[in-house]
Amino acid sequence: QASQQPKPDWLRIKLTTDGHYKEIKDMMRSKTLHTVCEEARCPNIYECWANRTATFMILGDICTRACRFCAVNTGMPTELDLQEPQRVAEAAEQMGLNHCVVTSVARDDLQDGGAMIFAETVKAIRAKLPLCSVEVLIPDFMGNRDALQIVMDAKPDILNHNIETVERLSDRVRAKAKYARSLELLRRAKEMQPRIPTKSSMMLGVGETREEILAAMDDLRAVDCNILTLGQYLQPTPNHLAIERYVHPDEFASLKEEGLRRGFSHVESGPLVRSSYHAHEQTKSAAQA
Ligand code: SF4
Ligand code: SF4
Repeated sequence: QASQQPKPDWLRIKLTTDGHYKEIKDMMRSKTLHTVCEEARCPNIYECWANRTATFMILGDICTRACRFCAVNTGMPTELDLQEPQRVAEAAEQMGLNHCVVTSVARDDLQDGGAMIFAETVKAIRAKLPLCSVEVLIPDFMGNRDALQIVMDAKPDILNHNIETVERLSDRVRAKAKYARSLELLRRAKEMQPRIPTKSSMMLGVGETREEILAAMDDLRAVDCNILTLGQYLQPTPNHLAIERYVHPDEFASLKEEGLRRGFSHVESGPLVRSSYHAHEQTKSAAQA
């Protein structure tokens, strides 16, 4: 297993911090907000926050699912916080964001899966920061069409839903999700709002083959998914899904070419790429597509 090997050079990053970063961290705590940037210990946090991009995690920090790659706690979620959209918008304003990603844990305990809070959050950010693009990275809402419609009616700038891995490994990596259901969600999103770009992401290094990655790209393009991100899976703790291999940067580059050839308007592909990495540029290129 690759997890037992030392990390290759291309995954070692230099962490630099400054006062601005600390200030934002404190502000998040005072507003009891969660960001994926912090919770997932994302290696891009300094770069993203300096570039005025951040990913908020709404609807609490306890998930009703337990995907094997994910470090978020599983259990009984907290009560709905109806003021959360407003606080996210205030934080986005204080950070002066020009691209804001809103995501959540899976709330299978709620009838609409939290769709209404997503929609309210998009609207609240719009009201405070009209020039900030808003991307939603949504769970599958257990295939609930009405829930997706609520989110699409709020007209986010990008609708993002991750397939996470290739079809064969889906059951193993994200037990309560379904590969076909995720593709169907992306297809429906396009049907509901044809002008809103859709986006998806895969983590590589969990045992997939190149052919399977290319097949997943074809599946995404078949539902007219516009933006693709590919990154290296990193194991959050030794109890999580093992890393099968470290994918070389050259291979990421070649997969990017494959993606562009298939008609994605934007592909971010590299060891440290995360779903929201360089997301602001993706909005621009999708708009041009
Ligand atoms: Fe946050 Fe996403 Fe940037 Fe990571 S890549 S720091 S999660 S916005
Ligand atoms: Fe993590 Fe999302 Fe899976 Fe919940 S549904 S365990 S937040 S990846």
